[in-house]
Amino acid sequence: MMNVKLNNGIKMPIIGLGTFRSKDEDVYQAVLDAIEAGYRHIDTAMIYGNEAAIGKAIKDSKIPRKDLFITTKLWNSDQGYESAKAALELSLKNLDLEYVDLYLIHWFKGYELALDSYRAMEELYNEGKIKALGVSNFNVHHIMKLLENCTVKPTVNQVETHIALQNEFLQEYCESVGVKLEAYAPLMSQHISDLLSDETMNRLAKKYNKSVPQIAIKWLVTRGIIVIPKSIKKSRIIENFNIFDFELSSKDMADIKKLNRARKIFPEFDNVPF
Ligand code: NDP
Repeated sequence: MMNVKLNNGIKMPIIGLGTFRSKDEDVYQAVLDAIEAGYRHIDTAMIYGNEAAIGKAIKDSKIPRKDLFITTKLWNSDQGYESAKAALELSLKNLDLEYVDLYLIHWFKGYELALDSYRAMEELYNEGKIKALGVSNFNVHHIMKLLENCTVKPTVNQVETHIALQNEFLQEYCESVGVKLEAYAPLMSQHISDLLSDETMNRLAKKYNKSVPQIAIKWLVTRGIIVIPKSIKKSRIIENFNIFDFELSSKDMADIKKLNRARKIFPEFDNVPF
């Protein structure tokens, strides 16, 4: 398993299990299957409502806590100084953990809320309840403002990234300020059929004797992007992790680059009424 080194020295496994829309009854087994397959990184969020089931699977896996990397996220209605502190405490209680490895502001909902939330997160970081701080769905100007006002640098920006929305410019900016890009919806989420039917991706899958999802994940990992494919099916959980035994040529990387359509599946934060 490959790790990415964050700007505070913490190591983050480059592949994690996504759990958005994974129900309690499915996610418990999915986490156990993922850990058995070699995953050590799980991505959840307070709003997914599945932290407790994930926490139980973590306990039951018997893997030492220090060997796991757990991310959760601060939901929009919990943003603010006091409420962010309370939300992290609740997430820790749900997960039955003493700390999370990465805590993200889930969406940008205005500068004041972001900065107040982040100030609370910095204190929780200094108390050891969070090992790395980060953001999600942040654009360049949001990160610039945060960098002007923070005492602990954000380590990660988790954003929608896949073959049709490649985020080259955002990645370049983030890396220039020491922030790692993390890809959500790497398989195009509910539009996965558009990925699975893509001609270039099918040609490459055939060439490397891999599946289209494996090519999509490998392309992100090759770009140095952290990736969190979601599945509740054991065979797919194994498949999505099995990408470390081949390399994509630079010509094939360039062919995938041509598939960018700047096509966003998830709504822009400005238009989201929550
Ligand atoms: P993904 O791009 O990971 O796609 C998930 C879909 O692909 C599911 O329908 C899954 O079905 C299917 N699938 C997974 N692997 C395979 C495979 N090998 N072959 C065929 N189908 C497959 O979408 P997500 O939206 O779930 O994004 C990944 C993760 O990113 C989330 O789970 C969440 O943790 C995070 N996220 C963060 C957001 C944010 O705002 N920060 C927003 C959205 C997601 P099945 O389960 O049946 O296998």
